[in-house]
Amino acid sequence: MDPMMLRLILKQVEYANPTITLSRYGKPVMQIGRYRYNRRSVQYKGSKVQWVCSKWASQLVCRASIMTINDEVVLVKNTHNH
Ligand SMILES: [Zn+2]
Repeated sequence: MDPMMLRLILKQVEYANPTITLSRYGKPVMQIGRYRYNRRSVQYKGSKVQWVCSKWASQLVCRASIMTINDEVVLVKNTHNH
């Protein structure tokens, strides 16, 4: 199979299966591949939730984020800088 195609499929599978766990502070954390996302405290109407990269508030200031509806990934801003 074309490596590009394979990578695309792998990525789709990856985002289709996010792992949601609780951090040691009791906050929800989503793990996708090698990146971790923290649930933003901002609440949207309904079940829409924004998750931001765990490096969002660090010195790296990574602005990658994910949007989920009912724990299903609907939007990915995969702009990690690390
Ligand atoms: Zn990041």
